[in-house]
Amino acid sequence: MTKLKIRIAPDPILHQKSQPIKVTEVKSAKVRKLVQDINDTLKSGEYGVGMSSIQVGIPLAITVIMIRPTPTRPNLKQFNKVYFNAEITGIEGDKVPMREGCCSILGKDDKPIYAKVPRYEKIRIKYLDEDGVAQEETVDGFLAHVLQHEIDHQNGILFTDLVDESSIVSCDDYKRISNSE
Ligand SMILES: [Zn+2]
Repeated sequence: MTKLKIRIAPDPILHQKSQPIKVTEVKSAKVRKLVQDINDTLKSGEYGVGMSSIQVGIPLAITVIMIRPTPTRPNLKQFNKVYFNAEITGIEGDKVPMREGCCSILGKDDKPIYAKVPRYEKIRIKYLDEDGVAQEETVDGFLAHVLQHEIDHQNGILFTDLVDESSIVSCDDYKRISNSE
C-alpha cells in the first residue's frame, strides 16, 4: 500500500492543466501503479470521494472516483471507477448548488473546508476506461457533481476559484449544518 503525498493549496501545481494520456499508456505498468497508489491514498484518508492525478503532483488526466460513506456524508453508496481523459461533452438542466470539499484544500484544523458549488445536474462525458476503450455516457446526481469537480482539477481549477470566500465553512461547521438541515 503506497500513500502518496497530497498537494495542498496554495501549491501552484494545482492550477496547472493536466496532459491527456495516450491510449497505449492506459494499461502500462506505470499508469496501473499510479492508479493503485491514488486509490490507496484516498483509502488511507477519512475524507474524499475522488482524486485526480494532479493532486499527487502528476499532471495527467486521470481521475479516480471512490464514492463511499465519509464523516460528512455517511449515507453515500460505494462506487469505484477510474476515468482517463474525462471531458464534458454536454450539459443538461440547471446548475444546482451542493456542498463540496477537496482533499487539497484544508482549513486551519487540517480538515477539508466546504462551500456550496453550483454544478450541472446532468452531464454527458467521454473518457477512456481502464482497458483504454473510449466510452461516452450521461451521468447525473452526486457522481455528476463529483466528476465536474475532478474535471476542473484536470483543467487547473479548484472549487475555491468558483465560490465567494464568505461562503466557505470549516469541516466541523459543515457537520453541524448538515445535521440541522
Ligand atoms: Zn478536489
